[in-house]
Amino acid sequence: ISVSQLEEARRALDAPLFADVAGDAAVSFEFFPPKTAKMEEALWEAMKTLEPLAPRFVSVTYGAGGSTRERTHATVARIQRETSMAAAAHLTCVEASKAEIDQVAEEYWAAGIRHIVALRGDPPVAGTKFAAHPDGYENAAALVAGLKKLHPFEISVAAYPECHPDSADAKADIDNLKRKLDAGANRAITQFFFSPEAYFRFRDRAAAAGITADIVPGILPVSNVAQTRKFAAMCGADIPDWMDRLFEGLDDHPAARQLVAATVAAEMCRRLYAGGVRGFHFYTLNRAELSFAICHLLGIRAQGQAREAAA
Ligand code: FAD
Repeated sequence: ISVSQLEEARRALDAPLFADVAGDAAVSFEFFPPKTAKMEEALWEAMKTLEPLAPRFVSVTYGAGGSTRERTHATVARIQRETSMAAAAHLTCVEASKAEIDQVAEEYWAAGIRHIVALRGDPPVAGTKFAAHPDGYENAAALVAGLKKLHPFEISVAAYPECHPDSADAKADIDNLKRKLDAGANRAITQFFFSPEAYFRFRDRAAAAGITADIVPGILPVSNVAQTRKFAAMCGADIPDWMDRLFEGLDDHPAARQLVAATVAAEMCRRLYAGGVRGFHFYTLNRAELSFAICHLLGIRAQGQAREAAA
């Protein structure tokens, strides 16, 4: 980074609130497949709210051990059929042979799905070491290579600014990311984090290792610290103490909690934007409002409204 870039970043950080954002960021939204009819209704409400923001894609997660195989497929296929958004399907290597995984991928291709988020997945029993299926893909890099052999899918892979717990060290983690990109992945999406500096350091290390693909930050707007702590323990993300302090005493104040959650996530996005980030992936947890508000602060407007304003 040059001195002038540093000065530019400093100026952007010092700019009043969100005055400097130009609405030029691309966003994507992640959902999980609903378990009940009620959850399904809530998911589609969220989709309807977020669709006018014209996301680059929306993705649907794949439950541990393929437990949501049918529900993930049904949700992704419905997005593709009934909305204007491009759908991406998450796919993991856990407890499945190559033939079974290839079959799932073929079904996606046949349904018009062209984008896969390719992951190794976590072992079915938390805390145990991942063991590949004897006839399966051994990790995400092998899965990417396998998918590319089937069809020219667009592929996103996972990245870990605070290091994946299975990695020997930060260098091994970057080497692994490079293997996934060299195998044909188009971009990386990060695990959630709450330190923009951790993201920037990771981006610098990746660049130094010759990685040129986009590393899109995964943004988790937190309104429930206890639940986030549970997720974070599994994936090695750090929840800073200040986060607990911010939500202290808000258990019975859901509206205030939402405002605090939006403030924290928006401030982080503003810092990332100031550091040159122009792509954001939101872990929506199937709720639209927080992600919608943060996109709004980033200058992103519903398509119809943007056209009206320009007219
Ligand atoms: P990999 O990239 O294969 O590697 C994981 C770790 O193992 C790395 O630290 C790497 O260094 C090490 N490793 C891999 N291969 C080797 C090797 N040959 N030698 C030495 N070390 C190696 N999980 C789900 O179950 N369903 C989902 O839908 C889902 N979506 C996700 C979306 C995003 C954006 C992210 C960031 C994560 C998601 N996960 C999901 C979680 C993910 O499956 C876990 O974090 C899992 O533990 C690792 O998956 P990976 O694809 O990063 O694995």
